[in-house]
Amino acid sequence: MNFELTKEQKGIQKAAREFAGKEFTDKAVGFDREERFDLSIWKKACDLGFVGVFIDEQYGGAGYGFFEHCLIAEEFWAADPGIGAAVLSASFGSELLILFGTEEQKKLVLPQIVSGEAMIGTAITEPDAGSDVTAAITAAVEEGSEWVINGSKMFITNGTLAKYMLVFCLTDPENPSRHGRHSFIMVPSNTMGFKATKLHGKMGIRASDTAEISLKDIRVPLQNLVGKKGEGFHELMAFFNRTRLHICAQAVGLARAALEEAVRHTKSRRQFGQTLASFQAIQFKIAEMATWIRAARNLYYEAAWRTDEGKLDHALVAMAKWFSAQIAVRCADEALQMHGGYGYIDEYKVQRLYRDAKILEIYEGTKEMEKVIIARSLLG
Ligand SMILES: Cc1cc2nc3c(=O)[nH]c(=O)nc-3n(C[C@H](O)[C@H](O)[C@H](O)COP(=O)(O)OP(=O)(O)OC[C@H]3O[C@@H](n4cnc5c(N)ncnc54)[C@H](O)[C@@H]3O)c2cc1C
Repeated sequence: MNFELTKEQKGIQKAAREFAGKEFTDKAVGFDREERFDLSIWKKACDLGFVGVFIDEQYGGAGYGFFEHCLIAEEFWAADPGIGAAVLSASFGSELLILFGTEEQKKLVLPQIVSGEAMIGTAITEPDAGSDVTAAITAAVEEGSEWVINGSKMFITNGTLAKYMLVFCLTDPENPSRHGRHSFIMVPSNTMGFKATKLHGKMGIRASDTAEISLKDIRVPLQNLVGKKGEGFHELMAFFNRTRLHICAQAVGLARAALEEAVRHTKSRRQFGQTLASFQAIQFKIAEMATWIRAARNLYYEAAWRTDEGKLDHALVAMAKWFSAQIAVRCADEALQMHGGYGYIDEYKVQRLYRDAKILEIYEGTKEMEKVIIARSLLG
């Protein structure tokens, strides 16, 4: 067993750290307040090859694994979760195309994701279908050579920015199995009837675009089906087993940033004639945070490594997602507490980290749903 990153992996990690340190740090407060980010940062990230590194060379990518994608995500989130989310989620959906897309779909979309010509999004959640994705009622009906889609989607990342949206649709409502009723269909966002409305007032990752999508009499060719008709649920689970690794790396990056802020502040802030860091109560918190972070990183490293080796362990992915999200929230909370009143002011990074962390326990499977998956793997 070897716990060392390869020279190439260390190089990717270093390049990502330097890029994010240079491009994100000064802009983070402004983008958080303005609920937007500068698309030129995403373009630069694409130019430098950070977006979609897991995409095969034949589609313009670097042909690395999800592990390398995670290394980049950890560095980006350590610099700023909001901008990190905005930049790297530009490829959210390409994993599904890689797994289940047709050759034509891959050739059309994947090179554009890598080069920064287009963003992609995946629209599953609906106003009345969140954790229970099988309750999705956005309907796609076959009419001649086309799908006709009607419905609405909620909380969609990149909703107003993505050129292509992979929409989870009800295609076989009469299927006796709830897991056999849905299919993914690719919808270009310039299709007549596609309307994305940006959501404002998010608690965290405010630089990242989140939208509500209305789909009204959308018509796309039958060839826009991604994967097999009626297999959408199983395809979604396979997709999440890849994208949840990304969330783990986001969480570890955020937790690491919280620890760094805590160390910096407690070493300089003095109370009772000594630095905060000299109090054992503070030292214990720092020790616990560092240990949680190492444990979470080891979990996601193993989960990502297994996935890239073709030995995907879905319960391990769920453990890594649940644990890393939880420790990110705890680390941000502890770090803010160590800042006292200063931590409550938005000029301080720790305040943003505290707000940004919570999403990790919600999107791509809530912490409760991750535990359901883990328990099922043990109990059946
Ligand atoms: C910023 C942001 C970005 C997002 N991006 C996307 C995106 O790009 N694409 C997309 O499709 N969706 C996206 N989502 C949606 C996200 O995945 C959902 O919010 C999430 O899956 C939870 O669904 P819900 O909000 O409907 O909550 P609900 O499913 O209503 O859950 C509410 C609470 O009940 C709990 N609960 C539900 N069922 C059970 C159960 N069986 N056992 C125990 N507890 C349960 C949940 O864990 C949760 O705590 C995004 C959300 C946000 C906030």
